[in-house]
Amino acid sequence: MRSAVTGFPRVGKLRELKFASEKYFRGEITEGNLNAVGKALRNENWRLQKDAGIHYISSNDFSFYDGMLDTTILLNAIPGEYRELNLSEQGVYFSMARGYQGVQGDVKAFAMKKWFNTNYHYLVPELYENTKIELSGNKPFDEYEEAKAIGIETKPVVIGAFTFLKLAKYNDGKNADDFMEDIIQCYRDMFERFGQLGTEWIQIDEPALVTDLSKEDITRFVTLYKEILKGKNKLKVLLQTYFGDVRDCYEELAALDFDGIGLDFLEGKKTLELIKAYGFPEDKVLFAGVVNGKNIWKCNYRIALNLIEEIRQHASHIVISTSCSLLHVPYTLESETKLERGIRERFSFAKEKLYELKELSDLAEREDFEKSHEYGDNQRIFEAVRLYEDKKVQADVSELSDEDFRRKADRKKRKQIQKDYFQLPLLPTTTIGSFPQTLEVKKNRSSFRKGEIDKEAYDRQVFSFIEDCIRKQEELGLDVLVHGEFERNDMVEFFGENLAGYVFTEKAWVQSYGTRCVKPPIIFGDVKRIRPITVKYSEYAQSLTDKPVKGMLTGPVTILNWSFPREDVSLQAMAYQIGIAIREEVCDLERAGIKIIQIDEAALKEKLPIRREEWYSEYLDWAIPAFRLCHSKTKPETQIHTHMCYSEFEEIVKDIDNMDADVISFEASRSKLTIIDALQAKHFQTEVGPGVYDIHSPRVPAVEEIVRALQKMLEKIDKNNLWVNPDCGLKTRGISETDASLKNLVEAAKTMRIQL
Ligand code: GLN
Ligand code: ZN
Repeated sequence: MRSAVTGFPRVGKLRELKFASEKYFRGEITEGNLNAVGKALRNENWRLQKDAGIHYISSNDFSFYDGMLDTTILLNAIPGEYRELNLSEQGVYFSMARGYQGVQGDVKAFAMKKWFNTNYHYLVPELYENTKIELSGNKPFDEYEEAKAIGIETKPVVIGAFTFLKLAKYNDGKNADDFMEDIIQCYRDMFERFGQLGTEWIQIDEPALVTDLSKEDITRFVTLYKEILKGKNKLKVLLQTYFGDVRDCYEELAALDFDGIGLDFLEGKKTLELIKAYGFPEDKVLFAGVVNGKNIWKCNYRIALNLIEEIRQHASHIVISTSCSLLHVPYTLESETKLERGIRERFSFAKEKLYELKELSDLAEREDFEKSHEYGDNQRIFEAVRLYEDKKVQADVSELSDEDFRRKADRKKRKQIQKDYFQLPLLPTTTIGSFPQTLEVKKNRSSFRKGEIDKEAYDRQVFSFIEDCIRKQEELGLDVLVHGEFERNDMVEFFGENLAGYVFTEKAWVQSYGTRCVKPPIIFGDVKRIRPITVKYSEYAQSLTDKPVKGMLTGPVTILNWSFPREDVSLQAMAYQIGIAIREEVCDLERAGIKIIQIDEAALKEKLPIRREEWYSEYLDWAIPAFRLCHSKTKPETQIHTHMCYSEFEEIVKDIDNMDADVISFEASRSKLTIIDALQAKHFQTEVGPGVYDIHSPRVPAVEEIVRALQKMLEKIDKNNLWVNPDCGLKTRGISETDASLKNLVEAAKTMRIQL
């Protein structure tokens, strides 16, 4: 049996591409230097796959920033304003990725969006009246030849026309249909060029096929490929899907003239069912995604081989593949020096998965695979290494009852009690939590990590930062204060370090966007709180002032969504375990005299299922309760806040209200405040603090600007329900712009109050 890899991580084993790109951005290295780093990484990745015995290796899965952006250029869809900068090719590319401000002009970066249900972000193409789609770049051809030059035949990967048109943003009254003819021609030209180069297979990625499709979508997809495939000649075309199943268009897909179809048998819950029900065409190759491209656990060969056996009943030509690109897992376990053996053995990162693919494809050919040492070794690990178990935690979760998810006093009662208790002015002002992480703050943390100072000295420093922060906020005249979050660098890692069941890595980075990578911790067993996490910092901060200081926690859904989850228990079980841990922290904070507690759910929307029919059953039905679990035991006068980073929750406004927080703050300054209409329409009950200025930019908003934003909000939101705050935490900002912005924010709130 043959094996294939959908795509490989691009940033390099030790994030070489990130560091080289950043040097290039700072002008420390040339374009030529950067290209050389790219080339070295591509070559290394191909060789690695070749050495592992992979048959179908991808090329053009590399990118200096993002694959959608590469496709935008390949299709000649560069908007005029970027062309007009008259920069080099690379210069135009990065101007679209990151914006450009300099002698050649001033343009903003393309918008960024989450790539389906991953934490990877792609750049959104913009199509205009004068966009002329045609084949214009050389990247996929060059990279194919580059691999060929070192003796490796690859299958070039290109994002497909359907997904491209589906994700693009349309301007000047245009829509996808206006670009059909040109895009068809463009892909045909591409096929022709690959044909001339002697390419055997090409992989067309169409992940948009796993989303809910309308009739029009399906018609468009079929029309596109009926036409495009007429131009394939001898070239073999693999249509690749991932992140789900193709339940809306399986029959149409199977009837088209593709030579191979790539299906995800892990996240695609209905994939097996589909091939059972409709069969798989005799004349096509099934690229069966059975090795998980999204998680870091070793593949259990028993389960995988059973699955392959079942697939084999329905398809005659099978290639064993990854469920999606390996872009979403870290590069290699080899870089980890601190993991205990028993833990490490359970993991498999991108490089290790190559060997799994190879072994599986060999074992699948053998009748007596159970006797092989590869199989035996694999199964022993699953038998020998148990994930960390805690019976008490398991019992706590199974004993949860309705009361654990409901606060005793309802919202109306609480509102009155809290109003009397806090005596806050109308339009109370506050911030989201973090204050600038200055060099001193970072230095303190790194000195402690390196063992240069002890915990006591470290905490003394943190306390002094807190004191300065409280004084500063009092001077500014904010109403509800925060301690500043100087003890944490990351909103998940900090909590994870105080929870049993968590494992941390050193170099397991995953690309989030462009040069930005994240290092998600791994849930390795039942989760429970080991010790109070934030209490002493909050308690100290509150002791310094008469104004209320918010306790600051990360919520269970966000902690879960930003970690690599276990695969042996449900997401719900993990969310509830973390929820119980956070609840203990909430109760401790309350006992320590903290009156307002904010439980951030920055990433709540991230794992909302791709399929609408699964929104509730697979996610919201436990995600919202997991949050409620954290605050169900609090007194009515304790005010619960939450924060979400995105405002794109129009479609789940009711569910957000159902979190039963007293106050929610969210990003709003960059969106056109459409969310406010949805809040009004759905009679949103929770008090709201839509961000009045964008913290992602050093720009200082003027008082009048904030006043105008508030006026607009007050047209739709009851004045008794409106808070005034920035968009998000201030940790990435400098001190001077933060002071100036907050001063204006307080001033604007005061101005508005007089008018109310
Ligand atoms: N409380 C966190 C902070 O202010 C929230 C961060 C976030 O939403 N990403 O930094
Ligand atoms: Zn945020």
